[in-house]
Amino acid sequence: MSFRLSVLFVTALLASQANAADNNVAVVRDLATRVGPIVGSAQACRDIDGSRVQVIVDKFQAVIREASSQDADRTDLQKGFERNIADGRNIVGFGKIAQRQHVAAIAATHGLTLVAVADPNADAADVGVPLFPGLRELLHDGPAIDAVALCTPPQIRTAQAAIALAAGKHVLLEKPPGKSVSEIAPLLTAAQASSRALFTAWHSRFAAGVEPARQLLAGRKIDSVGIVWKEDVRVWHPGQAWIFEPGGLGVFDPGINALSILTRILPRAVFVTAAELSFPANREAPIAAGLSMSDSAGVAISAEFDFRKAEPEIWEIVVETDGGTLKLSSGGARLALDGEVKAEGENAEYCALYRRFLELTASGAGDVDLTPLRLVADAFLLGKRRIVAAFED
Ligand code: NAP
Repeated sequence: MSFRLSVLFVTALLASQANAADNNVAVVRDLATRVGPIVGSAQACRDIDGSRVQVIVDKFQAVIREASSQDADRTDLQKGFERNIADGRNIVGFGKIAQRQHVAAIAATHGLTLVAVADPNADAADVGVPLFPGLRELLHDGPAIDAVALCTPPQIRTAQAAIALAAGKHVLLEKPPGKSVSEIAPLLTAAQASSRALFTAWHSRFAAGVEPARQLLAGRKIDSVGIVWKEDVRVWHPGQAWIFEPGGLGVFDPGINALSILTRILPRAVFVTAAELSFPANREAPIAAGLSMSDSAGVAISAEFDFRKAEPEIWEIVVETDGGTLKLSSGGARLALDGEVKAEGENAEYCALYRRFLELTASGAGDVDLTPLRLVADAFLLGKRRIVAAFED
């Protein structure tokens, strides 16, 4: 029913805006970015008679013909319209992050449409678009799609990415990109060979304070960096057994967000010098970790990660510099210099993330950065292990 309403709305939009466009190529190009994805969604919906959607396509093509007397303009507009129709989005793994962030961010991004979901146990009523038990079923039986956002646990994500790339889809990898560093290289090769976008989506890097922090630090002497990232796993990951299984990263699941910010804002490459990892007696991944790191200038960088923290939780990075103390708090959403707020923003990380992914899909380029995952791998290589109290969810 909602798709039918969308189609009627598009018809109205076409009628009024196309007249007003009056041979204005820019207006029609902009209109195509709004109409195209809705047409694409309608084409993907089996409940809608294809001939009704075709009426809209035909009308828009008439608008394109009238937009300019130049063949080159009309060809360009037609190609843009087709690209926008084809811009579909598909989520695999409809868990917490898909529901909390991805669905809304996709809906807010012009040029993207969620057309299907794959998840073995999701409730079709919650999903709102065609639901499939797995990626293979979706690719075989589902609507036409161009891209896949993989929001599954990291242990199974790489195999799914390989399937999606082999099917010619652009791929967004939730963080961490996979369960190991080395398994990403074949994905990159496959993506490059087929000119498909592969995106390691480090969402925390898009938090409001991160880019201003990078710019502030660029011209300063850095004396030290301290990271404190402590949260309650029972609050954020209830029932997610995968997180304490091999490849689930344990406390590095949130900790890697801090490392993704660290490696974006510092001017030089960072490396691990020592680590201590606390493993619950009954689990395969650490529940707490302490890291010592440095860079080529010898800056002392420390990180404390703890999954056992109740109130108040803390997600902070403090950088001491020759020009004052820079503090990123709330996971990067707030930046202060010597107590004065320099940047603060609502949580818009995933919208920015999808805008970046859309750019990448337009050119088929990759954006693959494994630096945060390498630091985690090195912490496992160098880390002294302590066995601590068993953890029960
Ligand atoms: P989650 O709630 O456990 O969701 C994972 C989903 O994938 C579940 O619905 C799961 O279904 C489904 N799934 C399992 N096997 C599948 C398969 N073969 N095909 C399709 N779907 C499958 O986990 P999450 O919290 O959303 O986290 C997912 C990823 O996002 C993790 O890498 C995490 O680090 C990242 N992330 C999470 C958050 C957060 O706050 N939660 C924030 C940012 C990033 P079942 O549950 O039925 O097995």
